[in-house]
Amino acid sequence: MKYQRSSALFDEAYKYIPGGVNSPVRAFKSVGGVPVFMKSAKGAYLTDADDNTYIDYINSWGPAILGHTHPEVLEELKIQAEKGFSFGAPTELETEIAKFIIENVPNIDQIRMVSSGTEACMSAIRLARGYTGRDKIVKFEGCYHGHSDSFLIKAGSGAATFGNPNSPGVTSGTAKDTLLARYNDFEQVQDLFRHNPGEIAAVIIEPVAGNMGCVLPENDFLQNLRKICDENGALLIFDEVMTGFRLAFGGAQELFNVKADLVTYGKVIGGGLPVGAFAGRNEIMDHLAPKGGVYQAGTLSGNPLAMRAGLKTLQLIKNDPEFFNRLEKTTETLDFEIGKILNEKGIAHRINRKGSMMSVFFHIKSVSNFDEAQEANHSLFNNFFHQMLQNGVYLPPSGYETYFISDAIKDKEIDMTLEAVRKFEYSNK
Ligand code: PLP
Repeated sequence: MKYQRSSALFDEAYKYIPGGVNSPVRAFKSVGGVPVFMKSAKGAYLTDADDNTYIDYINSWGPAILGHTHPEVLEELKIQAEKGFSFGAPTELETEIAKFIIENVPNIDQIRMVSSGTEACMSAIRLARGYTGRDKIVKFEGCYHGHSDSFLIKAGSGAATFGNPNSPGVTSGTAKDTLLARYNDFEQVQDLFRHNPGEIAAVIIEPVAGNMGCVLPENDFLQNLRKICDENGALLIFDEVMTGFRLAFGGAQELFNVKADLVTYGKVIGGGLPVGAFAGRNEIMDHLAPKGGVYQAGTLSGNPLAMRAGLKTLQLIKNDPEFFNRLEKTTETLDFEIGKILNEKGIAHRINRKGSMMSVFFHIKSVSNFDEAQEANHSLFNNFFHQMLQNGVYLPPSGYETYFISDAIKDKEIDMTLEAVRKFEYSNK
């Protein structure tokens, strides 16, 4: 593949946009090379500025679960665009999507729409602090909850990719209120509660982590978090920005049968437009302005175009009883077949997978926390990434990200992907 146009576009962008991109991981900084500039997307495929096409395993970092530019979602957007882009006033549509979600997701009574996953998590933490009257939160190393200050402490995703998980600009005052524990290490959580009695407002977790690569919660880890939060009057927040409407319609709460006090959403809930949301029981959500005193607002919150795209996407998923089974089957096939090919090539690896999230770690050990994710062979990953790209498969450009499998990936795309893996030439230089 040739990347002349992408290369020229990147040079131009670099002059006007910090690092040439509007979100760091897009710059290919850790894998090296020229970031590919995209110009269109349809179904399972992306087309770049040089007219190369790729099977997409990023899917806009999760939102495009149906595949790109689904015709029914597109139709909804056209209808709404004729009516108006944004009103800054309530619409019936907002209640329609809120009601639909609440009726179909366990354990939530109210939901507030925002415009990104970052906003959702940031607001959920503020609400937890306002509700409990406490300052501290527990977060897990390698989990990413957006780029608000409280979370940029040993964060995963782009922050881990660039090796600066503690961002300059986060004050020590803010950092001291974020307590860290290792993912899947319940003893550390117990220690934190023991040493900070009556001070922890909330524990926030990606119930299946996708920002240190895909890492699964072990055994009763989530259940134990539920228990310790109850015992200590802290809230349990599930960050379901990735897992919501992806692992199951009711997300990880439904899949693992663990109730969270607050749940955050993003990605799929907006059908490809900028949306986030946070939700919980009445007794907590009633503390939010204008009913309660915890302030949170947004010029474009509940934007009608975004609500239309989101609602149609969720309806299409909900009305398809085989949807999640199908996605899981696709992911299982990819896991099994990629694993087989890598084994035949003698390449040590581990594949973590849940639902339609999956990561290939080049590691001899299983990966169940951030330390282990960091120990994986990332230079080999970078090599794998570039060879896959050359062979028409667009993987996340970092070993600290999950693949997002969409419903547009069918047998043909699986075969093409496996063919690319077969061509992978392993060199340990
Ligand atoms: N939470 C999780 C689990 C995420 O994966 C992300 C983004 O990838 C966020 C929060 C932040 O969402 P956004 O990028 O929409 O601000």
